[in-house]
Amino acid sequence: MVTYMNSLDYSQIINNSTTGILVVDNREIIYANKYVYELLGYSYKDLLDFEQILHSDYKEACKQRLKRVIEDKEKVEAMEQVFIDKNGFPIDVEVFASPYVQDGKVYAQVHIHNITKRKLYEKEYVQSVEQYKLISENISDVITEISFDGTIQYVSPSVEGLLGYGEDEIRGKNIYEYIHPDDKIVLLNAYKKLKKSVTTSNICCRVKCKDEDYLWMESKAKVFTRNNDFRVIVDSRNVTDQIESEKLLRQSEKLAVIGELSAGVVHEIKNPLTSIKGFLQLMQAGTIKTKDYINILNSEIERIEQLANDLLGFAKPKEEMNSHNMVQIIDEVVFLINSTARSKNIQITWRPKEDPVRVFGDKSQLKQVFINLIKNAVEASETHQRVVIELHTEEGKAFVKVRDFGCGIPKEYLDKVGESFFTTKKKGTGLGLMVSHKIISNHEGEILIDSIVNEGTTFMVKMPIAR
Ligand code: ADP
Ligand code: MG
Repeated sequence: MVTYMNSLDYSQIINNSTTGILVVDNREIIYANKYVYELLGYSYKDLLDFEQILHSDYKEACKQRLKRVIEDKEKVEAMEQVFIDKNGFPIDVEVFASPYVQDGKVYAQVHIHNITKRKLYEKEYVQSVEQYKLISENISDVITEISFDGTIQYVSPSVEGLLGYGEDEIRGKNIYEYIHPDDKIVLLNAYKKLKKSVTTSNICCRVKCKDEDYLWMESKAKVFTRNNDFRVIVDSRNVTDQIESEKLLRQSEKLAVIGELSAGVVHEIKNPLTSIKGFLQLMQAGTIKTKDYINILNSEIERIEQLANDLLGFAKPKEEMNSHNMVQIIDEVVFLINSTARSKNIQITWRPKEDPVRVFGDKSQLKQVFINLIKNAVEASETHQRVVIELHTEEGKAFVKVRDFGCGIPKEYLDKVGESFFTTKKKGTGLGLMVSHKIISNHEGEILIDSIVNEGTTFMVKMPIAR
Protein backbone atom coordinates (compact mmCIF):
# COMPACT_ATOMS: atom_id res chain seq x y z
CA MET A 1 0.00 0.00 0.00
CA VAL A 2 1.23 3.42 -0.86
CA THR A 3 0.93 6.06 1.78
CA TYR A 4 0.90 9.67 0.59
CA MET A 5 2.21 12.21 2.97
CA ASN A 6 0.23 15.38 2.70
CA SER A 7 3.04 17.22 4.27
CA LEU A 8 5.57 16.58 1.42
CA ASP A 9 7.17 19.76 0.14
CA TYR A 10 6.90 19.24 -3.64
CA SER A 11 8.48 22.55 -4.50
CA GLN A 12 11.59 21.50 -2.60
CA ILE A 13 11.66 18.13 -4.34
CA ILE A 14 11.41 19.74 -7.76
CA ASN A 15 13.90 22.39 -6.90
CA ASN A 16 16.45 19.76 -5.84
CA SER A 17 15.79 17.47 -8.82
CA THR A 18 18.84 16.24 -10.73
CA THR A 19 17.25 17.07 -14.06
CA GLY A 20 16.53 20.59 -15.14
CA ILE A 21 12.93 21.74 -14.93
CA LEU A 22 11.56 24.93 -16.50
CA VAL A 23 8.07 26.28 -16.68
CA VAL A 24 7.58 28.45 -19.74
CA ASP A 25 4.74 30.74 -20.54
CA ASN A 26 4.94 31.37 -24.29
CA ARG A 27 8.54 32.62 -24.41
CA GLU A 28 9.00 33.69 -20.83
CA ILE A 29 10.59 31.49 -18.19
CA ILE A 30 8.45 31.73 -15.15
CA TYR A 31 10.18 29.02 -13.13
CA ALA A 32 13.58 27.32 -13.25
CA ASN A 33 14.85 24.80 -10.69
CA LYS A 34 18.28 24.95 -9.08
CA TYR A 35 19.73 22.43 -11.55
CA VAL A 36 19.05 24.78 -14.51
CA TYR A 37 20.82 27.66 -12.79
CA GLU A 38 23.80 25.51 -11.96
CA LEU A 39 23.93 23.95 -15.44
CA LEU A 40 24.02 27.36 -17.10
CA GLY A 41 26.26 29.01 -14.53
CA TYR A 42 23.77 31.61 -13.36
CA SER A 43 23.18 32.64 -9.79
CA TYR A 44 19.76 32.15 -8.30
CA LYS A 45 19.15 35.89 -8.32
CA ASP A 46 19.70 36.22 -12.11
CA LEU A 47 16.75 36.50 -14.41
CA LEU A 48 16.75 33.71 -17.01
CA ASP A 49 15.86 34.80 -20.51
CA PHE A 50 14.70 32.05 -22.83
CA GLU A 51 16.02 33.86 -25.94
CA GLN A 52 19.40 34.21 -24.30
CA ILE A 53 19.90 30.64 -23.10
CA LEU A 54 18.81 29.04 -26.38
CA HIS A 55 21.27 28.55 -29.23
CA SER A 56 20.11 30.46 -32.32
CA ASP A 57 20.05 27.25 -34.43
CA TYR A 58 17.23 25.85 -32.28
CA LYS A 59 15.06 28.95 -31.82
CA GLU A 60 12.64 28.21 -34.64
CA ALA A 61 12.20 24.54 -33.69
CA CYS A 62 11.61 25.52 -30.04
CA LYS A 63 9.00 28.04 -31.03
CA GLN A 64 7.11 25.37 -32.95
CA ARG A 65 7.36 22.88 -30.08
CA LEU A 66 6.17 25.42 -27.49
CA LYS A 67 3.26 26.23 -29.75
CA ARG A 68 2.32 22.55 -29.90
CA VAL A 69 2.55 22.20 -26.13
CA ILE A 70 0.76 25.39 -25.11
CA GLU A 71 -1.77 25.82 -27.90
CA ASP A 72 -2.42 22.20 -28.86
CA LYS A 73 -1.78 20.80 -25.38
CA GLU A 74 0.48 18.11 -26.85
CA LYS A 75 3.44 16.41 -25.27
CA VAL A 76 6.62 16.72 -27.38
CA GLU A 77 9.25 14.00 -27.57
CA ALA A 78 12.91 14.31 -26.68
CA MET A 79 14.99 16.62 -28.85
CA GLU A 80 18.69 17.29 -28.71
CA GLN A 81 19.35 21.01 -28.45
CA VAL A 82 22.12 23.36 -27.49
CA PHE A 83 21.81 25.88 -24.65
CA ILE A 84 24.23 28.73 -24.05
CA ASP A 85 25.64 29.21 -20.56
CA LYS A 86 26.34 32.51 -18.83
CA ASN A 87 29.84 32.65 -20.32
CA GLY A 88 28.54 32.07 -23.82
CA PHE A 89 29.67 28.42 -24.03
CA PRO A 90 27.38 25.84 -25.67
CA ILE A 91 25.93 23.03 -23.56
CA ASP A 92 24.39 19.92 -25.14
CA VAL A 93 21.01 19.10 -23.67
CA GLU A 94 18.10 16.81 -24.36
CA VAL A 95 14.72 18.49 -23.94
CA PHE A 96 11.21 17.06 -23.35
CA ALA A 97 8.14 19.20 -22.80
CA SER A 98 4.51 18.67 -21.81
CA PRO A 99 1.58 20.94 -21.02
CA TYR A 100 1.02 22.03 -17.41
CA VAL A 101 -2.33 23.57 -16.63
CA GLN A 102 -3.01 25.80 -13.63
CA ASP A 103 -6.04 27.97 -13.07
CA GLY A 104 -7.17 27.28 -16.62
CA LYS A 105 -3.93 28.62 -18.12
CA VAL A 106 -1.59 26.33 -20.12
CA TYR A 107 2.18 26.44 -19.60
CA ALA A 108 4.96 24.28 -20.96
CA GLN A 109 6.74 22.14 -18.42
CA VAL A 110 10.20 21.57 -19.84
CA HIS A 111 12.59 18.83 -18.66
CA ILE A 112 16.26 19.16 -19.47
CA HIS A 113 18.98 16.50 -19.41
CA ASN A 114 22.63 17.41 -19.63
CA ILE A 115 24.09 15.26 -22.42
CA THR A 116 27.51 16.91 -22.75
CA LYS A 117 29.34 13.69 -21.83
CA ARG A 118 27.24 11.54 -24.15
CA LYS A 119 27.89 13.98 -26.99
CA LEU A 120 31.58 13.90 -26.26
CA TYR A 121 31.64 10.08 -26.41
CA GLU A 122 29.61 10.15 -29.60
CA LYS A 123 32.02 12.61 -31.13
CA GLU A 124 35.00 10.51 -30.11
CA TYR A 125 33.31 7.42 -31.46
CA VAL A 126 32.52 9.05 -34.82
CA GLN A 127 36.08 10.34 -34.98
CA SER A 128 37.59 6.94 -34.32
CA VAL A 129 35.26 5.28 -36.85
CA GLU A 130 36.28 7.88 -39.44
CA GLN A 131 39.94 7.43 -38.58
CA TYR A 132 39.62 3.67 -38.86
CA LYS A 133 37.77 4.04 -42.18
CA LEU A 134 40.46 6.36 -43.51
CA ILE A 135 43.19 3.88 -42.59
CA SER A 136 41.42 0.74 -43.72
CA GLU A 137 40.39 2.26 -47.05
CA ASN A 138 43.81 3.65 -47.83
CA ILE A 139 46.25 0.95 -46.79
CA SER A 140 47.47 -1.33 -49.54
CA ASP A 141 47.74 -4.30 -47.15
CA VAL A 142 44.69 -6.46 -46.65
CA ILE A 143 43.73 -7.09 -43.03
CA THR A 144 41.67 -10.20 -42.34
CA GLU A 145 40.22 -11.56 -39.13
CA ILE A 146 39.73 -15.31 -39.24
CA SER A 147 38.22 -17.70 -36.74
CA PHE A 148 40.08 -20.94 -36.10
CA ASP A 149 37.86 -22.98 -38.43
CA GLY A 150 39.00 -20.69 -41.27
CA THR A 151 35.86 -18.55 -41.51
CA ILE A 152 36.59 -14.98 -42.57
CA GLN A 153 34.99 -12.70 -39.97
CA TYR A 154 36.31 -9.42 -41.28
CA VAL A 155 38.26 -8.22 -44.30
CA SER A 156 39.45 -4.67 -44.91
CA PRO A 157 38.02 -2.73 -47.89
CA SER A 158 41.50 -2.79 -49.50
CA VAL A 159 40.67 -6.33 -50.64
CA GLU A 160 38.65 -4.89 -53.53
CA GLY A 161 41.56 -3.01 -55.09
CA LEU A 162 43.84 -6.01 -54.76
CA LEU A 163 41.74 -9.10 -55.42
CA GLY A 164 38.60 -7.60 -56.94
CA TYR A 165 36.10 -8.92 -54.38
CA GLY A 166 33.76 -6.72 -52.38
CA GLU A 167 34.06 -7.07 -48.59
CA ASP A 168 30.59 -8.62 -48.36
CA GLU A 169 31.44 -11.28 -50.94
CA ILE A 170 34.24 -12.61 -48.76
CA ARG A 171 32.90 -12.23 -45.24
CA GLY A 172 31.59 -15.55 -43.89
CA LYS A 173 33.47 -17.62 -46.50
CA ASN A 174 36.29 -20.00 -45.66
CA ILE A 175 39.84 -18.78 -46.28
CA TYR A 176 40.79 -22.09 -47.94
CA GLU A 177 38.43 -21.35 -50.85
CA TYR A 178 40.81 -18.62 -51.93
CA ILE A 179 44.12 -20.45 -51.58
CA HIS A 180 45.87 -22.15 -54.49
CA PRO A 181 45.44 -25.96 -54.15
CA ASP A 182 49.24 -26.47 -54.01
CA ASP A 183 49.60 -23.92 -51.21
CA LYS A 184 46.86 -25.18 -48.90
CA ILE A 185 49.42 -27.29 -47.06
CA VAL A 186 51.49 -24.16 -46.36
CA LEU A 187 48.47 -22.56 -44.72
CA LEU A 188 47.67 -25.73 -42.83
CA ASN A 189 51.20 -25.90 -41.41
CA ALA A 190 51.09 -22.24 -40.38
CA TYR A 191 47.76 -22.83 -38.66
CA LYS A 192 49.13 -25.84 -36.79
CA LYS A 193 52.01 -23.70 -35.56
CA LEU A 194 49.71 -20.87 -34.53
CA LYS A 195 47.56 -23.23 -32.51
CA LYS A 196 50.60 -24.12 -30.45
CA SER A 197 52.48 -20.88 -30.11
CA VAL A 198 50.02 -17.97 -30.40
CA THR A 199 52.79 -15.90 -31.96
CA THR A 200 53.26 -14.49 -35.41
CA SER A 201 54.17 -16.52 -38.42
CA ASN A 202 55.13 -15.40 -41.91
CA ILE A 203 53.71 -17.32 -44.81
CA CYS A 204 53.69 -16.90 -48.54
CA CYS A 205 50.99 -18.39 -50.74
CA ARG A 206 48.93 -17.80 -53.86
CA VAL A 207 45.52 -16.24 -53.39
CA LYS A 208 42.76 -16.39 -55.99
CA CYS A 209 41.52 -13.09 -57.45
CA LYS A 210 37.97 -12.56 -58.64
CA ASP A 211 39.15 -12.91 -62.25
CA GLU A 212 40.53 -16.40 -61.36
CA ASP A 213 44.17 -15.24 -61.56
CA TYR A 214 46.41 -15.84 -58.58
CA LEU A 215 48.51 -13.31 -56.66
CA TRP A 216 51.38 -14.17 -54.36
CA MET A 217 50.62 -12.77 -50.92
CA GLU A 218 52.93 -12.63 -47.94
CA SER A 219 51.06 -12.72 -44.64
CA LYS A 220 51.84 -12.19 -41.01
CA ALA A 221 49.43 -13.75 -38.58
CA LYS A 222 48.79 -13.28 -34.89
CA VAL A 223 46.41 -15.05 -32.57
CA PHE A 224 44.18 -13.12 -30.20
CA THR A 225 40.93 -13.79 -28.33
CA ARG A 226 37.58 -12.16 -28.92
CA ASN A 227 34.70 -13.11 -26.61
CA ASN A 228 36.69 -16.17 -25.41
CA ASP A 229 37.05 -17.26 -29.03
CA PHE A 230 40.47 -17.73 -30.64
CA ARG A 231 40.90 -15.54 -33.67
CA VAL A 232 43.73 -14.90 -36.09
CA ILE A 233 44.46 -11.45 -37.40
CA VAL A 234 46.29 -11.57 -40.72
CA ASP A 235 48.14 -8.76 -42.47
CA SER A 236 48.76 -9.64 -46.13
CA ARG A 237 50.56 -7.85 -48.93
CA ASN A 238 51.04 -8.49 -52.60
CA VAL A 239 54.54 -9.82 -53.29
CA THR A 240 53.87 -11.21 -56.78
CA ASP A 241 56.47 -9.02 -58.51
CA GLN A 242 59.11 -9.90 -55.94
CA ILE A 243 58.35 -13.63 -56.15
CA GLU A 244 58.35 -13.56 -59.95
CA SER A 245 61.71 -11.83 -60.11
CA GLU A 246 63.19 -14.22 -57.55
CA LYS A 247 61.88 -17.09 -59.62
CA LEU A 248 63.43 -15.61 -62.75
CA LEU A 249 66.76 -15.22 -60.98
CA ARG A 250 66.62 -18.82 -59.70
CA GLN A 251 65.74 -20.00 -63.16
CA SER A 252 68.58 -18.19 -64.91
CA GLU A 253 71.10 -19.25 -62.27
CA LYS A 254 69.91 -22.79 -62.78
CA LEU A 255 70.29 -22.54 -66.55
CA ALA A 256 73.89 -21.44 -66.09
CA VAL A 257 74.51 -24.46 -63.81
CA ILE A 258 72.81 -26.83 -66.25
CA GLY A 259 75.06 -25.51 -69.02
CA GLU A 260 78.11 -26.43 -66.97
CA LEU A 261 76.72 -29.75 -65.71
CA SER A 262 75.77 -30.92 -69.17
CA ALA A 263 79.43 -30.85 -70.23
CA GLY A 264 80.12 -33.41 -67.48
CA VAL A 265 77.00 -35.41 -68.27
CA VAL A 266 77.86 -35.62 -71.97
CA HIS A 267 81.31 -36.80 -71.00
CA GLU A 268 79.72 -39.38 -68.70
CA ILE A 269 77.36 -40.62 -71.41
CA LYS A 270 80.30 -41.24 -73.73
CA ASN A 271 81.61 -44.20 -71.67
CA PRO A 272 78.46 -46.38 -71.75
CA LEU A 273 77.95 -45.41 -75.40
CA THR A 274 81.45 -46.62 -76.27
CA SER A 275 80.87 -49.92 -74.52
CA ILE A 276 77.44 -50.38 -76.16
CA LYS A 277 79.01 -49.68 -79.54
CA GLY A 278 81.81 -52.20 -78.88
CA PHE A 279 79.39 -54.96 -77.84
CA LEU A 280 77.19 -54.30 -80.88
CA GLN A 281 80.20 -54.65 -83.21
CA LEU A 282 81.21 -57.93 -81.55
CA MET A 283 77.62 -59.20 -81.81
CA GLN A 284 77.48 -58.24 -85.48
CA ALA A 285 80.70 -60.09 -86.15
CA GLY A 286 79.23 -63.10 -84.34
CA THR A 287 82.14 -63.11 -81.86
CA ILE A 288 79.82 -63.09 -78.84
CA LYS A 289 76.30 -64.37 -78.24
CA THR A 290 73.66 -61.61 -78.01
CA LYS A 291 71.71 -63.15 -75.14
CA ASP A 292 74.76 -63.33 -72.85
CA TYR A 293 75.31 -59.59 -73.03
CA ILE A 294 71.74 -58.24 -73.10
CA ASN A 295 71.85 -57.44 -69.35
CA ILE A 296 75.06 -55.42 -69.62
CA LEU A 297 73.67 -53.49 -72.58
CA ASN A 298 70.47 -52.82 -70.65
CA SER A 299 72.25 -51.50 -67.60
CA GLU A 300 74.44 -49.19 -69.72
CA ILE A 301 71.34 -47.84 -71.46
CA GLU A 302 69.59 -47.38 -68.10
CA ARG A 303 72.55 -45.38 -66.85
CA ILE A 304 72.33 -43.04 -69.84
CA GLU A 305 68.59 -42.79 -69.35
CA GLN A 306 68.93 -41.90 -65.68
CA LEU A 307 71.50 -39.20 -66.36
CA ALA A 308 69.30 -37.69 -69.06
CA ASN A 309 66.25 -37.89 -66.79
CA ASP A 310 68.09 -36.29 -63.89
CA LEU A 311 69.33 -33.40 -65.97
CA LEU A 312 65.90 -32.91 -67.52
CA GLY A 313 64.14 -33.29 -64.19
CA PHE A 314 66.33 -30.59 -62.73
CA ALA A 315 65.93 -28.32 -65.75
CA LYS A 316 62.16 -28.59 -66.02
CA PRO A 317 60.81 -28.84 -62.50
CA LYS A 318 57.36 -28.57 -61.09
CA GLU A 319 57.65 -26.01 -58.32
CA GLU A 320 55.66 -27.19 -55.33
CA MET A 321 55.97 -27.38 -51.58
CA ASN A 322 55.83 -30.87 -50.15
CA SER A 323 57.45 -33.25 -47.72
CA HIS A 324 60.63 -34.85 -49.14
CA ASN A 325 63.37 -37.19 -48.02
CA MET A 326 66.56 -35.13 -47.85
CA VAL A 327 68.62 -38.31 -48.39
CA GLN A 328 66.97 -38.93 -51.75
CA ILE A 329 67.42 -35.29 -52.79
CA ILE A 330 71.16 -35.49 -52.11
CA ASP A 331 71.39 -38.96 -53.75
CA GLU A 332 70.06 -37.49 -56.96
CA VAL A 333 72.29 -34.43 -56.77
CA VAL A 334 75.41 -36.55 -56.15
CA PHE A 335 74.53 -38.79 -59.09
CA LEU A 336 74.19 -35.78 -61.36
CA ILE A 337 77.32 -34.00 -60.20
CA ASN A 338 79.51 -37.10 -60.04
CA SER A 339 80.12 -36.88 -63.77
CA THR A 340 81.67 -33.44 -63.36
CA ALA A 341 83.64 -34.56 -60.29
CA ARG A 342 85.01 -37.68 -62.00
CA SER A 343 86.27 -35.66 -64.95
CA LYS A 344 88.46 -33.81 -62.39
CA ASN A 345 89.29 -37.02 -60.51
CA ILE A 346 87.55 -35.85 -57.40
CA GLN A 347 85.80 -38.36 -55.23
CA ILE A 348 82.50 -37.45 -53.62
CA THR A 349 81.81 -39.27 -50.36
CA TRP A 350 78.21 -39.13 -49.27
CA ARG A 351 77.39 -40.41 -45.78
CA PRO A 352 73.89 -39.87 -44.40
CA LYS A 353 73.76 -40.84 -40.70
CA GLU A 354 69.99 -41.33 -40.95
CA ASP A 355 67.49 -42.25 -43.63
CA PRO A 356 64.88 -40.96 -44.26
CA VAL A 357 65.16 -37.36 -43.05
CA ARG A 358 61.97 -35.59 -44.02
CA VAL A 359 61.97 -31.89 -44.77
CA PHE A 360 59.19 -29.71 -46.06
CA GLY A 361 59.90 -27.72 -49.19
CA ASP A 362 60.34 -27.43 -52.91
CA LYS A 363 62.39 -30.40 -54.12
CA SER A 364 63.80 -28.74 -57.22
CA GLN A 365 64.83 -25.64 -55.26
CA LEU A 366 66.54 -27.73 -52.58
CA LYS A 367 68.34 -29.68 -55.30
CA GLN A 368 69.53 -26.39 -56.76
CA VAL A 369 71.06 -25.45 -53.38
CA PHE A 370 73.01 -28.71 -53.00
CA ILE A 371 74.13 -28.68 -56.63
CA ASN A 372 75.53 -25.19 -56.02
CA LEU A 373 77.30 -26.12 -52.80
CA ILE A 374 78.76 -29.40 -54.09
CA LYS A 375 79.74 -27.84 -57.41
CA ASN A 376 81.54 -25.02 -55.56
CA ALA A 377 83.31 -27.62 -53.40
CA VAL A 378 84.41 -29.57 -56.49
CA GLU A 379 85.58 -26.37 -58.17
CA ALA A 380 87.56 -25.36 -55.06
CA SER A 381 89.30 -28.76 -54.88
CA GLU A 382 92.54 -29.93 -56.51
CA THR A 383 92.63 -33.13 -58.56
CA HIS A 384 92.40 -36.31 -56.39
CA GLN A 385 90.97 -34.43 -53.40
CA ARG A 386 87.77 -35.51 -51.69
CA VAL A 387 84.46 -33.79 -51.14
CA VAL A 388 82.54 -35.13 -48.13
CA ILE A 389 78.82 -34.75 -47.65
CA GLU A 390 77.25 -35.61 -44.31
CA LEU A 391 73.71 -35.51 -42.97
CA HIS A 392 72.55 -35.72 -39.39
CA THR A 393 69.65 -34.46 -37.30
CA GLU A 394 69.65 -32.66 -33.96
CA GLU A 395 66.85 -31.04 -31.97
CA GLY A 396 64.31 -31.01 -34.77
CA LYS A 397 66.77 -29.73 -37.36
CA ALA A 398 68.46 -31.41 -40.31
CA PHE A 399 72.13 -30.54 -40.85
CA VAL A 400 73.83 -31.11 -44.20
CA LYS A 401 77.58 -30.47 -44.31
CA VAL A 402 79.37 -30.08 -47.63
CA ARG A 403 83.08 -30.20 -46.90
CA ASP A 404 86.05 -29.77 -49.20
CA PHE A 405 89.82 -29.69 -48.65
CA GLY A 406 90.46 -27.05 -51.27
CA CYS A 407 91.62 -23.45 -51.47
CA GLY A 408 89.37 -22.05 -48.71
CA ILE A 409 87.85 -18.57 -48.55
CA PRO A 410 89.97 -15.65 -47.30
CA LYS A 411 88.48 -13.85 -44.26
CA GLU A 412 87.96 -10.61 -46.19
CA TYR A 413 85.76 -12.48 -48.69
CA LEU A 414 83.60 -14.31 -46.15
CA ASP A 415 81.09 -11.47 -45.93
CA LYS A 416 81.06 -11.03 -49.69
CA VAL A 417 80.37 -14.58 -50.83
CA GLY A 418 76.64 -14.78 -51.16
CA GLU A 419 76.29 -11.23 -52.43
CA SER A 420 75.01 -11.11 -55.98
CA PHE A 421 77.68 -11.28 -58.71
CA PHE A 422 80.56 -11.84 -56.28
CA THR A 423 82.80 -14.39 -57.93
CA THR A 424 86.49 -15.21 -57.98
CA LYS A 425 86.13 -17.55 -60.95
CA LYS A 426 86.87 -16.76 -64.57
CA LYS A 427 83.56 -18.13 -65.76
CA GLY A 428 81.62 -17.70 -62.51
CA THR A 429 78.23 -16.04 -62.29
CA GLY A 430 78.44 -15.12 -58.60
CA LEU A 431 74.77 -16.05 -58.25
CA GLY A 432 74.93 -19.57 -56.85
CA LEU A 433 75.34 -18.77 -53.16
CA MET A 434 72.99 -15.82 -53.27
CA VAL A 435 70.20 -17.92 -54.77
CA SER A 436 70.99 -20.75 -52.32
CA HIS A 437 70.83 -18.45 -49.28
CA LYS A 438 67.49 -17.10 -50.50
CA ILE A 439 66.05 -20.57 -51.07
CA ILE A 440 67.12 -21.87 -47.67
CA SER A 441 65.85 -18.81 -45.83
CA ASN A 442 62.49 -19.29 -47.61
CA HIS A 443 62.58 -22.78 -46.13
CA GLU A 444 63.09 -21.34 -42.64
CA GLY A 445 66.69 -22.48 -42.56
CA GLU A 446 70.16 -20.97 -42.86
CA ILE A 447 73.52 -21.64 -44.45
CA LEU A 448 76.63 -21.32 -42.29
CA ILE A 449 80.20 -21.16 -43.61
CA ASP A 450 83.39 -22.30 -41.95
CA SER A 451 86.58 -21.89 -43.94
CA ILE A 452 90.35 -21.91 -43.53
CA VAL A 453 92.53 -20.79 -46.43
CA ASN A 454 94.41 -23.70 -48.02
CA GLU A 455 92.75 -26.19 -45.66
CA GLY A 456 89.22 -26.21 -46.93
CA THR A 457 85.68 -25.06 -46.49
CA THR A 458 82.53 -26.45 -44.89
CA PHE A 459 79.13 -25.18 -45.88
CA MET A 460 76.41 -26.23 -43.46
CA VAL A 461 72.74 -26.14 -44.35
CA LYS A 462 70.44 -26.14 -41.31
CA MET A 463 66.74 -26.75 -41.89
CA PRO A 464 63.72 -27.72 -39.80
CA ILE A 465 62.64 -31.37 -40.03
CA ALA A 466 59.07 -31.86 -41.25
CA ARG A 467 56.73 -33.16 -38.55
P1 ADP B 1 80.32 -18.76 -58.58
O1 ADP B 1 80.50 -20.20 -58.21
O2 ADP B 1 79.66 -18.57 -59.89
O3 ADP B 1 81.58 -17.95 -58.45
P2 ADP B 1 78.91 -18.66 -56.10
O4 ADP B 1 77.91 -17.70 -55.58
O5 ADP B 1 78.57 -20.09 -56.17
O6 ADP B 1 79.30 -18.12 -57.53
O7 ADP B 1 80.21 -18.50 -55.25
C1 ADP B 1 80.74 -17.20 -55.00
C2 ADP B 1 82.17 -17.27 -54.61
O8 ADP B 1 82.32 -17.86 -53.34
C3 ADP B 1 83.05 -18.13 -55.50
O9 ADP B 1 83.46 -17.43 -56.64
C4 ADP B 1 84.21 -18.47 -54.57
O10 ADP B 1 85.12 -17.37 -54.50
C5 ADP B 1 83.55 -18.55 -53.21
N1 ADP B 1 83.29 -19.94 -52.84
C6 ADP B 1 82.11 -20.56 -52.80
N2 ADP B 1 82.24 -21.82 -52.38
C7 ADP B 1 83.53 -22.04 -52.12
C8 ADP B 1 84.31 -23.16 -51.64
N3 ADP B 1 83.73 -24.34 -51.34
N4 ADP B 1 85.63 -22.98 -51.48
C9 ADP B 1 86.20 -21.81 -51.75
N5 ADP B 1 85.54 -20.73 -52.20
C10 ADP B 1 84.22 -20.83 -52.40
MG1 MG C 1 78.97 -21.58 -57.74
